Amino acid sequence: MEFRDLKSQYIKYKNDIDSAIQKVLINTNFIDGEEVKILEERLANYTGVKHCISCGNGTDAMTLVMMAWDIKKGDAVFVPDFTFFATGEIVSLIGATPILVDVDRNTFNINTDKLEKAIQEITKYGKLKARAIVPVDLFGLPADYNEINRIAKKYNLLVLEDGAQGFGGSIDGRMACSFGDAATTSFFPSKPLGCYGDGGAIFTNDDNLAELLNSYKVHGKGENKYDNIRIGLNSRLDTIQAAILNVKLTAFINHELEDVNRIYKWYTKKLNDAVETPLIPEGYKSSFAQYTIKLKNREQRDFLQAKLKEEGIPSMIYYAKPMHKQEAFFSLKLNDEEFETTNELCDIVLSLPMHPYLKESDVNNICKIISKSIG
Ligand SMILES: *Cc1c(COP(=O)(O)O)cnc(C)c1O
Repeated sequence: MEFRDLKSQYIKYKNDIDSAIQKVLINTNFIDGEEVKILEERLANYTGVKHCISCGNGTDAMTLVMMAWDIKKGDAVFVPDFTFFATGEIVSLIGATPILVDVDRNTFNINTDKLEKAIQEITKYGKLKARAIVPVDLFGLPADYNEINRIAKKYNLLVLEDGAQGFGGSIDGRMACSFGDAATTSFFPSKPLGCYGDGGAIFTNDDNLAELLNSYKVHGKGENKYDNIRIGLNSRLDTIQAAILNVKLTAFINHELEDVNRIYKWYTKKLNDAVETPLIPEGYKSSFAQYTIKLKNREQRDFLQAKLKEEGIPSMIYYAKPMHKQEAFFSLKLNDEEFETTNELCDIVLSLPMHPYLKESDVNNICKIISKSIG
């Protein structure tokens, strides 16, 4: 069994994907081919955002937004502690200071009470200038943007939605990647919408920001790429990846998003009594980048993972180490006690196989093993 079965997807769409790639090979427009423009328009349409700017990967996408917002040394950017390293990394990379915030135990997303307190502290202390919040849509579930946007407005902060795992999720019908002043996603192969290598995109309704981003991603170009008016990056989505994504986006819209939501219900119905299953708040929809359960403690989690492995079932621990315990952030001198929930989650979470091609019989088998092991 695969944790995320990319092969079944490829076999199902082999003809379409192969001919999409073949077309690019014949046209030889490997950079800036028409497939890139078509994809950007479709993604903007799907998320309901005015501009979609594709780029090299999800990390670059976030870095480009930080650059365009001129976030720099002396600025504070608020990020959740329980996430993939890139969310905090991009803040440090551009010279600003990431302020790590504990998360909510139910949703795994940034704790908005603790976020507001952290903003007040930074403002009171006066050494750093609070500039932006980067909420993460962890495991496919959008963060609490009603509350986050209220806080951002109150303290005059920008919001960058890290939708690397969130693409396809929604709140009251509003799509993920449309919630902040800007949003980003990743097309890393195992994300909800993945390509066959690295890729990413930025979403915004802000015309001025879109224009800046299109410049920053191509060496800070002015009139053309040999007229350079600012220091930028070289970060483009190549045409072959865009061609693949055009096929996969159709599958995502037609059935894959619904499929993972059906699988979520199968799992939850069978596991509810034995473990803590993911909580999806009223009005929210997840794209289930991960299906993550919570166990009683670390011993039980590790025991279950070993049992599953014995039976040939892969599972993953996202995340075993919180950001505040990463050596790269030691210089921030963080206080472990402020991250009570993240610390607990790192001990008790376990992500089970989840992808649109998972069979009901496989889900039943996984649930049976879990119930037998710890029920
Ligand atoms: C994957 C991921 C990223 C980075 O995306 P890449 O395309 O791998 O650079 C950023 N944030 C989160 C939460 C992610 O899961």
